[in-house]
Amino acid sequence: MILRERTGIHPWRAHDIHELETEHAEWIQQLRELMEKYPNAIVGEVGIDTIAWQQRIPDSQNHEPNNGAVIPETKKYTPIPHQQNVLRYQIQIAIDYDRAVSLHSVGKWKPAEEVLQQFKGSKLRVCIHSYCGSGDNIIRLQRELGRHAKVFVSISQAINNRLNLEKLDDLIHKIAVNRFLTETDLERTDGMTTEYEERLMWPYNQIARVKDLSIEEVKVQVEANWKEFHQRSEAIS
Ligand SMILES: [Zn+2]
Repeated sequence: MILRERTGIHPWRAHDIHELETEHAEWIQQLRELMEKYPNAIVGEVGIDTIAWQQRIPDSQNHEPNNGAVIPETKKYTPIPHQQNVLRYQIQIAIDYDRAVSLHSVGKWKPAEEVLQQFKGSKLRVCIHSYCGSGDNIIRLQRELGRHAKVFVSISQAINNRLNLEKLDDLIHKIAVNRFLTETDLERTDGMTTEYEERLMWPYNQIARVKDLSIEEVKVQVEANWKEFHQRSEAIS
């Protein structure tokens, strides 16, 4: 299954949002319109990044390098309360439109957790992508949000391979197998090269190894997890 539609303000670009004071702000209306236009779109990546500088998208018309990567705009950090506000509005939109949220949380976990906790009792479906924190945070968040919410975690070779093996194994060990998703965290596929295939398979191999399952079992499980994450509840009859 290929997901082509996702929309939202990434924390690296949260500084572009200036009008926050009202839910009638133009960017919020635009996001709502996109949700209506694309019924399969998810909200993301949105979230909190406490270590990245503000970024901008390279302007290809000015022949800036545009290999898909964003480039630092300044050496400024976007204030955390501002990032939290931008995130909060976007999670509310996801809930209003029954969409899943792909959450970017880099640096401190607490600011993201503070926002997520405000959606206690909701039907929030959220995936913390390339999550490198402790499994205990996720277990606690799920407990606090309540049984209607679903907190998923996805892992990628690009990011999670930086963890030492003990931490990686502990994370995989603590997260239930029905709450895992997988990703490459790459912007493009560049065709199915051997290297790309390895990156695709890396999370499956790690989950299979730690959970003592076959690759095939992990694939079946992750596909079911994906459906649970992505499928709108109103679409289930
Ligand atoms: Zn991210």
